[in-house]
Amino acid sequence: MSSPLGILGGTFDPVHFGHLRPALELLEGLELDAIRLIPCGIPPHRQVPIAGAEQRLAMLRLAVEGVEGLEVDERELKRAGPSYMVDTLLSLREEVGEQPLCLILGLDAFLGLDSWHQWERILDLCHLVVAHRPGWTLHEGISGPIQQLLNRRQIRDREGICREKAGMILFQAVTQLDISATSIRNRLAQGQQVRYLLPDPVLEYIEQQGLYQEKVNEYRAVK
Ligand code: ATP
Repeated sequence: MSSPLGILGGTFDPVHFGHLRPALELLEGLELDAIRLIPCGIPPHRQVPIAGAEQRLAMLRLAVEGVEGLEVDERELKRAGPSYMVDTLLSLREEVGEQPLCLILGLDAFLGLDSWHQWERILDLCHLVVAHRPGWTLHEGISGPIQQLLNRRQIRDREGICREKAGMILFQAVTQLDISATSIRNRLAQGQQVRYLLPDPVLEYIEQQGLYQEKVNEYRAVK
């Protein structure tokens, strides 16, 4: 048995407490070795992020500075082409050998798993830890393939994810924070406060870089 390594991928445009608090609780609750926060380069499923790769990386670094166990991993930003999770897991597997890997997903992301590139290979490479997210329930929009996967792979306690290096699905309750990067970007574009939704150093960076201010972007577009 060895402590699993957690993986939390996302656009982090910007990182916020809805990412960080659940990550910390999973780190402690599942006694993970560490959690790697992995910002994606070119997201396969969605629009190009507003903040640049370097800016999203800088915000992540500021967010986890001094927090033992939360680490930033740049591998997707260094890779050309779309950031497919299966490629990230293959390179992590090469790095960690037999250590269990736990890919952390919000429930919304888990329910859409069957739209991911080569999704059927994912559970050969890692476990899934599904963190409950407000507004989403298991019976809402669950597709046939995901239900079948759950029937075969769901486990109820931590032991399974330490015993095997991959292949299990564990649901884990975390403090529910109904925060999204979209709502933060929208508030900023409307000139509203986002303090207490994300770490202060990240907010200071956003202000210093003039990020997510739609009027500034419109101005640039006109010029
Ligand atoms: P956006 O609003 O731009 O779509 P987001 O806030 O959902 O962004 P992402 O970077 O896309 O953030 O999310 C990365 C991962 O974190 C996903 O697995 C997502 O489900 C999870 N996540 C994001 N916000 C929360 C939250 N408030 N609670 C739990 N999980 C979350």
